[in-house]
Amino acid sequence: MPDVSLIQCDTYQPEALKDTILQSLSNIGFDLTRFNNARVVVKPNLLMPAKEEKAIITHAEFFRAVVRIVKENNGTPVLVESPAIHSLKRVIKKTDYARVVEEEAIEIADPMQTRTLSYDAAKKFRYIDISEAYFDADIILNLPKFKTHGITYVTGAVKLLFGAIPGVEKSKMHMRAPDHEDFAEFLLDLYGAMTFGMKPSVPIVHIMDAICVQEGEGPGPAGKARWLNAVLAGDNGIAVDYVATMIAGLDIDKALTVVNGFRRDYGISSAKEIKVIGESIKNLQVSDFEPATGSTIFSNMFRWPFNTPTFKNLFLDRPVPAEDKCTLCYQCKKICASGAITASSGKKDIPNYDYKKCIRCYCCLEICPEAAITKQKGRFGWILGG
Ligand code: SF4
Ligand code: SF4
Repeated sequence: MPDVSLIQCDTYQPEALKDTILQSLSNIGFDLTRFNNARVVVKPNLLMPAKEEKAIITHAEFFRAVVRIVKENNGTPVLVESPAIHSLKRVIKKTDYARVVEEEAIEIADPMQTRTLSYDAAKKFRYIDISEAYFDADIILNLPKFKTHGITYVTGAVKLLFGAIPGVEKSKMHMRAPDHEDFAEFLLDLYGAMTFGMKPSVPIVHIMDAICVQEGEGPGPAGKARWLNAVLAGDNGIAVDYVATMIAGLDIDKALTVVNGFRRDYGISSAKEIKVIGESIKNLQVSDFEPATGSTIFSNMFRWPFNTPTFKNLFLDRPVPAEDKCTLCYQCKKICASGAITASSGKKDIPNYDYKKCIRCYCCLEICPEAAITKQKGRFGWILGG
């Protein structure tokens, strides 16, 4: 039975956080002596350079509390993460991580060196290249930030492992798994491969920053920060994501990495098997949490003929940049794996979008530093309830 620790926490004050995380590890029966002489990969969400108050990245003090616990128990913490576009060094330099990494003297691994991870039980993606640093770890501590997401509905423990794939290689995976259902299955293949397919195996513990989170058009600058006041932990990422989605009061049937994850039987096949330790879900649950628009509504329908350019243009939301916000930085062009974005033609000071090529992965919307891109409804989107 997967245990999930759930503790109320409304502060990023370092000592209080450390106590909360220690209690979380104790709740799930994690023995701190496992850190002794261990190389501990600590993986926060460092999607992009962002201020803490936007709740895009795992809070730097949350990361500090975890690495202090590792160090105090004679382990060596190593920061591993691969942001979407920018180098890891640049994201660290532009965030509060610069201070924490220096003060705590944390080793940073190069996320761009890769090794192929193979997993025979994968549904579709048996071979995935991930950062080599994960193979050198004795333990992986995955530190997701709970946020809404335009494709996966929520992003938490399962989705955060996507960051094991280096840089813009991530957005290419959207070309190989273009619809919501396929993308969720790919994420579950990756989760299964990292959880059960590493040789020798490397245990993963998920410790979630669900204190200040994102609602609305997460997980980037277009999302809105709000306080959910919770820290979660568990060694089953699907179970952790289930509990987080429930305390946000969201529709669990739309969280495909959770409901499809139950079908994989990765140590859990239904919510009934989860034992929540600490607070009850009911006590922390909120009722006014805003989901991202256009999430998984079409997930089961988004197959031929619904994924042809004509149908996509008529039915699905299209990403549209606003001229008054766009700075022509072209980060959207850089991340678009389908080549749908080209330089401004000069008529308008915004990049050109070719909606026939666009696969609606919304990576551009996620990464735009100005939150200049919004979703515009397809002409007949109302028919599908979008
Ligand atoms: S839409 Fe956003 S990411 Fe694209 S060029 Fe404009 S500001 Fe940059
Ligand atoms: S234009 Fe944006 S939504 Fe469309 S494929 Fe490119 S990154 Fe994805």
